[in-house]
Amino acid sequence: MNNASAKSVRWAIIGASQIARSWVAGAIRATDRGELVSLMSRDQARGEDFAKAFGIPKVVTSLEGVWEDAGVDAVYISTANARHREIAVAAAAAGKHVLCEKPLSLELDEAVEMAEACDKAGVIMGTNHHMRAAATHIAIRDLVKSGAIGKPLAARAMYCEYLPVELQTWRTTDTSQGGVIYDLTVHNVDALRFALGFEPQEVMSMKASSLIGKNGVEDQTQSVIRFEKDLIAYSHEGYAFAHHETALEIHGSEGGIYGRGIMDEAPSGQVYLRRGKEMTEVPVIPVNLYEGTVSQFNAAVLDGGAPKATGWDGVRSLATALAVRESCRTGQKVAVPQFNGGGRT
Ligand code: NDP
Repeated sequence: MNNASAKSVRWAIIGASQIARSWVAGAIRATDRGELVSLMSRDQARGEDFAKAFGIPKVVTSLEGVWEDAGVDAVYISTANARHREIAVAAAAAGKHVLCEKPLSLELDEAVEMAEACDKAGVIMGTNHHMRAAATHIAIRDLVKSGAIGKPLAARAMYCEYLPVELQTWRTTDTSQGGVIYDLTVHNVDALRFALGFEPQEVMSMKASSLIGKNGVEDQTQSVIRFEKDLIAYSHEGYAFAHHETALEIHGSEGGIYGRGIMDEAPSGQVYLRRGKEMTEVPVIPVNLYEGTVSQFNAAVLDGGAPKATGWDGVRSLATALAVRESCRTGQKVAVPQFNGGGRT
């Protein structure tokens, strides 16, 4: 759907979450083609508190209150993971464009259902893989694309941090929707797919509940992922690492790219190009990752085109993350389901 005559996208946030409060509500307000018109929270007081902080004119406590509101064009789904599917499918049926948080859902079939529902309804669907908007990640992708490192041979993604105590809730305790695989493996996989332009084929993984994971919920995972063109990547995600620098590296036949400290919510870190023993910093101008994501979503709705990460990108990152989970469970190598355009191959 292309709303060429509209001047801006009128957004509702669904779920008064931490990430909406820290980044996305402000990002929607900061974009020149987006307006924040409504907030849905199951809790009236939490909704009103959130709306006051961001000057949002309307608070509703039911999803129907969003679906029936003709003044809402798009929804940002910011609930905990288990509720994404139901909300996205209902949003599509109501004709609302959907920007959904990652992981899209808990099971692959549910994520496919969400992407198909949006395609069928003719609404735009995006996944909030916000790092696609990072100047550092774009610089890495451009270097790979331009042939600056020759043939890409190997890659490493490390998203290891110490999860702030206030976020040690469902993420570290809930066996059905918590853990680093749903939370961070999807980001690492998407960052690798974005930088390389290749699809993951198979994974071999191990997980552990080392320090802050409760009830067996994993707080770190390490995987080896075989991508197309026989590229092998290593991916490490962790909640338990207060002293670990995040990283994204691509190693090619003619050079290596080192993205240091760049797996983050805030614009951060540096990118270096290495040839032999020589390291040269690649200049990047930092931008707000969430503003970039929302701006492109607005443009997709108003002008046509695609969001930074589509619904199907979210399906693909989840497909690999679930293969990681299965490999951790079985101790075996697991094939990653493949998708051709919109469908499964
Ligand atoms: P929160 O745990 O902060 O919020 C989840 C939901 O719980 C909210 O939508 C809200 O729903 C409800 N809630 C909020 N505060 C409270 C509270 N004090 N007590 C009880 N319920 C509460 O979620 P996160 O922000 O950590 O994550 C939300 C989604 O965003 C997840 O899917 C996560 O994976 C994703 N995420 C993405 C990031 C990114 O950079 N792309 C970064 C961080 C998270 P309601 O108001 O309806 O009750």
